[in-house]
Amino acid sequence: MPDRSELKRRVTEEIDRRRDSLVELSLRIHATPEIAFQEHKSAAMLEDFLEGAGFAVERGVCELATAFRATYGSGSPRIAFVAEYDALPGVGHGCGHNIIGTAACAAAIAVKDVLADAGGGTVLVLGTPAEEAAGGKVYMISRGAFDGLDCAMMIHPGNRDTSVAYALACLELEVEFNGRAAHAAARPEAGLNALDAMVTAFVSIGLLRQQVRDSARIHGIITDGGQAVNVIPHHAAAKFLVRTEEDEYMDEVLKPKVLACFEGAAQATGCELKYKWGEESRYKTMRTNMALAEAYRENVESLGRKTVAPDSSRSMGSTDMGNVSQVVPGIHPAISIAPPDIPIHTVEFRELAKSEAGHKGLIDGARALAMTGVDALVDPELRQRMKEEFDSA
Ligand SMILES: [Zn+2]
Ligand SMILES: [Zn+2]
Repeated sequence: MPDRSELKRRVTEEIDRRRDSLVELSLRIHATPEIAFQEHKSAAMLEDFLEGAGFAVERGVCELATAFRATYGSGSPRIAFVAEYDALPGVGHGCGHNIIGTAACAAAIAVKDVLADAGGGTVLVLGTPAEEAAGGKVYMISRGAFDGLDCAMMIHPGNRDTSVAYALACLELEVEFNGRAAHAAARPEAGLNALDAMVTAFVSIGLLRQQVRDSARIHGIITDGGQAVNVIPHHAAAKFLVRTEEDEYMDEVLKPKVLACFEGAAQATGCELKYKWGEESRYKTMRTNMALAEAYRENVESLGRKTVAPDSSRSMGSTDMGNVSQVVPGIHPAISIAPPDIPIHTVEFRELAKSEAGHKGLIDGARALAMTGVDALVDPELRQRMKEEFDSA
């Protein structure tokens, strides 16, 4: 068996040696914020970087122009680092995905350099677009990108260090009401007010929140509330996201209860309801592989970082890495780049994602990922534990 600690020393040294070019790549992506499925320049930057380091890069895989697969080596084990690089509308890289994409590439390049001495195998980077909006990974899973892997791992910048991630299942609901327009003062009684239907539904949802589990989240915006103030709106539309910590609770409880709010509003106002659940891009709960997470925890703590257990089910978002974690052993740890009071998706966090603290998170995250990659390559018992845990779930 190869000397594991020697291999880990080599991967961290390789990342340190490339520090300047990694920081430069992260900053370039940060300065080029591109939203879901429009990450053409950001994807190209990562693809070029990996190609320059000797990876075989396939661009536009899975029928997604900004998805990619970079491969080095052959055969088993097959380990994948997961890159994200989309930005948020308005906030830019307020989620720090410039760090995620760069860290995944850095870890893969470092592991590539020791692959032969680690006993061989395949190291991949999967470039996954549109995490913030449309769930690029969901489509990539259904198109086979995650087939045949021993594990998939990524890091996400945050305001604390964790090895275990929880994420809520998340399902989009698009609704519209169709009523009848009328003069709002001269003949309001001739109208069927679609905006009233929407307001009624919002009130019902607000009341429903008291009757659902604490961790459930139901939130929406009105995307059409009428066009003219003196016309009874004949059409109203909204988008909602429905989230919960259990996929079954989503299907058996939340979906019917939420839908009933809209059906009741349609009944009350005489408007017609149309709706569409976004099942094809539904985010699933995160099922952290604890065996792999434990290996990551030891590695990141060896760098002087102390991980904390996620304090509660509060302050959870959703991620399409959840879907990945349900088809292959996966982890989604957080690497701290921010004080505890600064959350992701803010302007303050965006600034941190290009700061010295952000660079340190990038380098430490890449080192911890690479060391965990070494563990997965050289330790068949770890792979067995990962697999048994995954199969038993
Ligand atoms: Zn985000
Ligand atoms: Zn994110």
